[in-house]
Amino acid sequence: MTRQQLFARLALPGQYDLAIIGGGATGLGVALDAAARGLRVVLVESHDFAKGTSSRATKLVHGGVRYLAQGNIALVREALHERTTLLRNAPHLAQPLPFVMPSYKRWETPFYGIGLKIYDALAGKAGLGPTEFLSCRKTLSYLPTVHPQGLKGGVKYWDGQFDDARLALALARTAATRGALLLNYCAATGLRHEGGKVVGLSCEDRETGQSYQIQARCVINATGVWVDEFRQKDGAAAGRAVQPMVAPSQGVHVVVERDFLPADHALLVPKTADGRVLFAVPWLGKLILGTTDTPRQDLDREPRAFKEEVDFILRESARYLSRAPTRADIKSIWVGLRPLVRPPDDEGGNTKGLSREHTVLVSRSGLVTVTGGKWTTYRSMAEDVLEKCFEASLLERVNSGGTAHLRLVGSDGPISGRPKISDVPGLHSYGSEQHAVLSLPGAQRQLGGGLSEAMVRFAARHEYARTVEDVLARRSRLLFLDARLAASLASEVGAILQQETGVDPQIAAFSGLARQYLDLPDLAAE
Ligand SMILES: Cc1cc2nc3c(=O)[nH]c(=O)nc-3n(C[C@H](O)[C@H](O)[C@H](O)COP(=O)(O)OP(=O)(O)OC[C@H]3O[C@@H](n4cnc5c(N)ncnc54)[C@H](O)[C@@H]3O)c2cc1C
Repeated sequence: MTRQQLFARLALPGQYDLAIIGGGATGLGVALDAAARGLRVVLVESHDFAKGTSSRATKLVHGGVRYLAQGNIALVREALHERTTLLRNAPHLAQPLPFVMPSYKRWETPFYGIGLKIYDALAGKAGLGPTEFLSCRKTLSYLPTVHPQGLKGGVKYWDGQFDDARLALALARTAATRGALLLNYCAATGLRHEGGKVVGLSCEDRETGQSYQIQARCVINATGVWVDEFRQKDGAAAGRAVQPMVAPSQGVHVVVERDFLPADHALLVPKTADGRVLFAVPWLGKLILGTTDTPRQDLDREPRAFKEEVDFILRESARYLSRAPTRADIKSIWVGLRPLVRPPDDEGGNTKGLSREHTVLVSRSGLVTVTGGKWTTYRSMAEDVLEKCFEASLLERVNSGGTAHLRLVGSDGPISGRPKISDVPGLHSYGSEQHAVLSLPGAQRQLGGGLSEAMVRFAARHEYARTVEDVLARRSRLLFLDARLAASLASEVGAILQQETGVDPQIAAFSGLARQYLDLPDLAAE
């Protein structure tokens, strides 16, 4: 369907079962779960799908070794099981990845090794491979560029990795095949109340400025770090003050060339100088280093890294990599905001101790807010949201649509070859839809960075892309991999996109954004 047709459908009178605000992992997961149950679903996203936190993850499909260290067994067990479900349902976008933790102190191998054996035990049948204790030689064969001096051995364990933004699109498109109506660049502007109950929302097409009213039995606020805005609107309608529930925490990633760690294994630093976990993950031909955990008060759509965060990542990488990346080696810097849920007596400050689990709240007027959690558990979070809607009698109970076994778009047919997500970008990200991309004009015309003219056309025709940023940041991941290269392709991508959509592809705005992804923070940035 064209965008015009989608909005024509939105304008039709009638009541939805669910109206979802927010097109990140959480909202899209709920849309798919509800649509798979046969419910009538509409989802509005103010920007692009996954423009928020859901395109800025460390790209791990994981139980979370650090949550294990915090003793959060229930969260780890659930995530380990969801990990396997995700790898099965979207094998072109989520795959197993071996991790190695090098040890420079004798106690580290047994200490962390035993912890990781517990990780295996919690996974049970959902395990991806056994944890192994490694000799020095073996550790260096897996991670050839870590410092050999003082190396005592290592531990290898298994988790997964994924392409977060493309997974979000796969969720959106799969939900659409089940009848859900999903609209990007359509901002929810307010809630509609009747008799003290939420009965729908108003929204605006950000391209035309046209407003729409949506009637729904149940409104889901899945706006990530922005959930408090709608909670406060809901409270204000009833004259109630609402305490904020989200304590945002910023995470920075730095991307460098793969030759700093030319390996098929990711590197785990179990304890940085300030007690965090740091990863070096091979992803789409580059190496991701990160992340940080810095409390932040503002909720910028494109938050900037602090100088200390970039210095910290480079300093910690230098403790392990014999050729340490410098600021000059950085290809892209990106920042995401974690929607951590604030305990009632929290006084701000340290976010490491805040809950990583998701929270679902049903307000007195029936607004359902869901936030927190992680990408890996989006599916079980969605089930939980639906359960809360049934318990609160907002919806009549409907059986599960079996999302645990629902293959996502792109994995519902044979996938040629066995490419890995760590490989350079290319057709492999399209899974079983590769032939559909190849059938479009410009299939042989490579623009650069693994992106072809046909991929841009596919993005516009089938993947809801409207702007150059949509294509270069979230359909292809070039902005996140190499911001300079992405900027150099903006005009060409814009010209193709404009042919397809007929609207301004916003080339200049993208060029400014790409500069930000290359801009190393200095003291002025604070
Ligand atoms: C640095 C970092 C690293 C992470 N790494 C991992 C990882 O490796 N593995 C993992 O499993 N998890 C990871 N996570 C967690 C995971 O990314 C998040 O839990 C998840 O993306 C949150 O999704 P969400 O949909 O709740 O929020 P978001 O993705 O932010 O989505 C909310 C959406 O709501 C939209 N919105 C806001 N206001 C409106 C409005 N008025 N109208 C319509 N739409 C609106 C926003 O535009 C946004 O797209 C990481 C998080 C961070 C910050």
